[in-house]
Amino acid sequence: MERLQNFINGEFSSSRSSNTLDNFNPATGKVYGQLPASNEVDVDDAVGAAQAVFSKWSTTPTSERSRVLMKIAELIEVRLQEFAEAESMDTGKPLGLARKVDIPRAVANFRFYAGAAEHFFSEAHIMEQRAINYTLRQPLGVVGCISPWNLPLYLLTWKIAPAIAAGNCVVAKPSELTPKTAALLAELLATAGVPAGVINIVHGEGESAGAAIVKHPGVKAVSFTGGTETGARISEVAAPQFKKLSLELGGKNPNIIFADCDFDKMLETTLRSSFINQGQVCLCGSRIFVEQPIYERFRDALVERTRELKVGDPMDAQTHQGAVISQQHMEKILTCINQAKEEGASLLTGGERVILKGRCEKGWFVQPTILEGLAADAKTNQREIFGPVVSLMPFKDEQQVVRCANESAYGLAATVWTQNLSRAHRMAAELEAGILWINCWMLRDLRTPFGGMKHSGLGREGGFEALRFFTEAKNVCIDLTT
Ligand code: NAD
Repeated sequence: MERLQNFINGEFSSSRSSNTLDNFNPATGKVYGQLPASNEVDVDDAVGAAQAVFSKWSTTPTSERSRVLMKIAELIEVRLQEFAEAESMDTGKPLGLARKVDIPRAVANFRFYAGAAEHFFSEAHIMEQRAINYTLRQPLGVVGCISPWNLPLYLLTWKIAPAIAAGNCVVAKPSELTPKTAALLAELLATAGVPAGVINIVHGEGESAGAAIVKHPGVKAVSFTGGTETGARISEVAAPQFKKLSLELGGKNPNIIFADCDFDKMLETTLRSSFINQGQVCLCGSRIFVEQPIYERFRDALVERTRELKVGDPMDAQTHQGAVISQQHMEKILTCINQAKEEGASLLTGGERVILKGRCEKGWFVQPTILEGLAADAKTNQREIFGPVVSLMPFKDEQQVVRCANESAYGLAATVWTQNLSRAHRMAAELEAGILWINCWMLRDLRTPFGGMKHSGLGREGGFEALRFFTEAKNVCIDLTT
């Protein structure tokens, strides 16, 4: 049985309470390890360690911080297979996906911010003969980074990398469901040259360890990715303390398909944007709007391709669809499908739990599922399911589909498939989403602002946006007349 530990002040330790949580492998349904159930005492230790090293790290030359980030990237890359296996085991995602997407992206996050830190700049505003203003962008101090289970190392490092690149020290909490790759990351920090206390990893549940990070007066900012309800709870605690908050929350993204699209490319990408990672990517397009003339052709083609997806052991190279994260989440997904049927949806394919043979017989697998026949305002089309479930809706024209797509509490991402350039630009301007993809999906340039509007979040990650978030802007005005 594997026992993970916290990483505080450069050392591995258990929670001071000695309490632990079980770590499950979703593909087998079995416990394979334990992690510390940390509490506010552990968080206080981590904040203290981070505070103690802050003046050293924040005054370390940017070029040296950048070198350290590059080294972290290199060390993860050397152990790519080990990291990918750990990610697959914790999440139930296919090993190939973790190898191709999750871990390479964590590497890219450190490399990107190693470079971005050196290119970051601040502004100067010249008042002709009268005065000069320049902006200092100084690190905040100790910051909290809290991440979810769907892309564990990918999303955690998307926060840690810019935070330390900008000169902050971090108290990070990975999801209690997927702690393993964060623990592996901790193992290589000393070799990379990260001073003790600059990155602290505290494992445990959201309500205890996570909440303690948000509440701690020594934590100056919180970068959070997770569910909308959790984001609201975090805001309630952080806002009265006027902490900086970056919130990347839930989504219910529209995928809008016009009849003039490149059908083959659209179909291939839609299969991915519907079901990759068992539909557990915040950017997945779960509401698929299809222009009437191609609705039936599209529906039949998507159903056929979906039926070919192999649900299986994540370690098997032939598997397209692995397990969902937990038994509870599997039950939630199945309940949502049943409620969709009660609302009047027709089930085109899927809808059931999959029971595999052998090692995965107790795993939490769900068939990729396609529904049709529901109105845009039906409950199924409004709430985030966060599983392998999509709902198809035909539409008549541009105005109608923009109205339906925007009829959502969320506003994270939207995809539009059309060859009509003017329409693409019109749609991009009118759709209420922070991220728009035209004729593509999940094509990521790490320099671009990333985040959602409405209930999908607050603020943007990525590029210099994250470096701005993790720094305080201070304007200095110099009078030139005296
Ligand atoms: P979650 O909100 O349950 O948990 C996310 C993290 O917050 C975990 O580490 C958890 O322990 C912690 N947490 C829980 N309660 C807390 C509290 N009161 N205070 C502080 N921390 C707390 O989310 P999840 O189930 O892990 O992830 C799925 C959700 O994440 C989905 O809604 C999905 O859309 C969203 N998500 C959003 C993005 C994005 O970029 N917008 C990316 C990935 C996932």
